Amino acid sequence: MHEHDVIVVGAGGAGLRAAIAAQEAGADVAIVSKLHPVRSHTGAAEGGINAALRDADSWQDHAYDTMKGSDYLGDAPAVEALCQESPEEVIQLEHWGMPFSREEDGRVSQRPFGGLSFPRTTYAGAETGHQMLHTMYEQVVKRGVTVYDEWHVMDLAVTDEDDPADRTCHGVVAYDIQSGEVSGFRADNGVILATGGMGQVFDHTTNAVANTGDGVAMAYRAGVPMEDMEFIQFHPTTLPSTGVLISEGVRGEGGILYNSEGERFMFEHGYANNDGELASRDVVSRAELTEVNEGRGIEDEYVHLDMRHLGEERILDRLENILHLAEDFEGADGLTEPMPVKPGQHYAMGGIETNEHGETAIDGLYAAGECACASVHGANRLGGNALPELIVFGKRAGRHAAGEDMGEATVTTGKDGEWEAADYEFEIEVGETGGKGPAAADGGAVASDAESVLGATVERAKDRVDELLARKGRNHAEIRSKVQETMTANVNVFREEGRLEETLGDLREAREAYKDVAVSDPSRTFNTDLIHTMETRNILDIAEALTMGALARKEFRGAHWRKEHQERKDENWLKHTLVSWNDGEPELWYKPTILEGENKTYEPKSRSY
Ligand SMILES: Cc1cc2nc3c(=O)[nH]c(=O)nc-3n(C[C@H](O)[C@H](O)[C@H](O)COP(=O)(O)OP(=O)(O)OC[C@H]3O[C@@H](n4cnc5c(N)ncnc54)[C@H](O)[C@@H]3O)c2cc1C
Repeated sequence: MHEHDVIVVGAGGAGLRAAIAAQEAGADVAIVSKLHPVRSHTGAAEGGINAALRDADSWQDHAYDTMKGSDYLGDAPAVEALCQESPEEVIQLEHWGMPFSREEDGRVSQRPFGGLSFPRTTYAGAETGHQMLHTMYEQVVKRGVTVYDEWHVMDLAVTDEDDPADRTCHGVVAYDIQSGEVSGFRADNGVILATGGMGQVFDHTTNAVANTGDGVAMAYRAGVPMEDMEFIQFHPTTLPSTGVLISEGVRGEGGILYNSEGERFMFEHGYANNDGELASRDVVSRAELTEVNEGRGIEDEYVHLDMRHLGEERILDRLENILHLAEDFEGADGLTEPMPVKPGQHYAMGGIETNEHGETAIDGLYAAGECACASVHGANRLGGNALPELIVFGKRAGRHAAGEDMGEATVTTGKDGEWEAADYEFEIEVGETGGKGPAAADGGAVASDAESVLGATVERAKDRVDELLARKGRNHAEIRSKVQETMTANVNVFREEGRLEETLGDLREAREAYKDVAVSDPSRTFNTDLIHTMETRNILDIAEALTMGALARKEFRGAHWRKEHQERKDENWLKHTLVSWNDGEPELWYKPTILEGENKTYEPKSRSY
């Protein structure tokens, strides 16, 4: 058993920033991570970090762009916190030694990004996330924060009161990938989930194989609602054969999209007459797929992104990494030919419901970064807004968990504020399929007192590992592939009712199949089969909640396009989708979006670029 004041799960940008903040606030902090910190997926971020740094720019303009980009589903208090605090966080990174790209006069460079009214994206070449991660990891090492790396967190130790609002999180249970040991980590003050994205729910994604949404699924099963899960970002420029990202930085520097007829379709077909390639990502992804569907795609699959006109010197200075990615993963030389690109899953706007301090509906449990939904991205995230979210909300969660008084939050969690039940009957049954068997993750609590809950959760996790290793049954890989295939085929950029229902049916079958899951490798050390089997359960729960939200939301907003509902419907749908697990029975409900900021209300307007 390990014991610390604050346990941070995850060592990407959000986890590292949270750990530094909690340590600065006087807490004894430990990070538990299934990957070594610098292997976290933040390291893959290429394009940059938005921050209103220049005199001609302002946090208010950044907030306006973000609310518009969110299609008015962002919560203004969280959006304003992001935009007010990202400049000081970027300056903090610079003071810690992050090697930002610079102008001739020494100022940190900023480039245009999609949906921004000012070029406010700071960057370090095309490897911004890598530099950010290393800069913060140095601070973690310098401060002596304990890092338990290669520990896969399986479960949260949460008490078992009926109402999730009465439950408390006392720690986590993790499996040591190197030794096979299962151990408890008691958190005297709080647990911060910073477990990143869930791209592996889809099979064409820019996300790493480790991005399986573990924290989101664990929190969900423990009683915390998932928020706005149907809003998935499909990035317009991913390499067709692998899903590897070609950064928006290419379009920010002037890269142009062409269809098979050599047309600059963003303008020539009227998708975004003002901003063209630099329209918001949802707009560009839909435009590309429309070109392909109308027969103007290349090989019926993709379009071209051309940066040759930028010249070798500029490309090598600002986008060198892109040349390597296109060459290594697609065999395309970006200096002499256009690069093939198509939309791919990239980012989850939704996640664990939190307020602007990172608190969840369960006492002692926090979330920050991509796994969280502080509601800054709403229905569509602007490029360059995820990295500032990590540092702003990572810091906030760290300080709060360490016990700093940060005042009353404006955003409510759980059913504390106004809410309404969903009026939707699913044709397919959802949730636990009954008789879940010992191999399934419960996530729900096992004891109601603080003293015994951690020990009891450890015992349950040990039983689960023993059972998975001992039994005979199906391999997780076939179940995972089926989930990824149906999600990619049916819950993608374009969505329609029948295919969403079909997906719920496929997921039901996958849940049934998972009841027989078993691990073929019986060893206790570096057993990736075991880890992937546990992750597959998380993918299943997330895929289901996401599809439920997508079916029930009968409108077109941001990244959520519905064939039968071609308009944004503010009268009925200015509200967040929440899905609660309720001991195996998913419940869909809604709470209103907060459009009132500090000094203004962000009135929904039509969104054109
Ligand atoms: C290719 C790519 C490029 C991007 N470029 C940009 C960009 O230029 N600008 C921008 O703003 N955003 C960008 N994004 C988005 C942004 O990078 C991510 O949203 C962000 O880095 C996620 O950070 P995080 O700290 O939340 O998670 P991650 O960096 O993914 O870290 C997650 C951590 O959680 C740990 N973990 C997960 N599950 C468990 C478990 N069960 N037990 C223990 N540990 C666990 C992992 O080990 C890891 O340390 C990009 C995303 C991608 C995929």
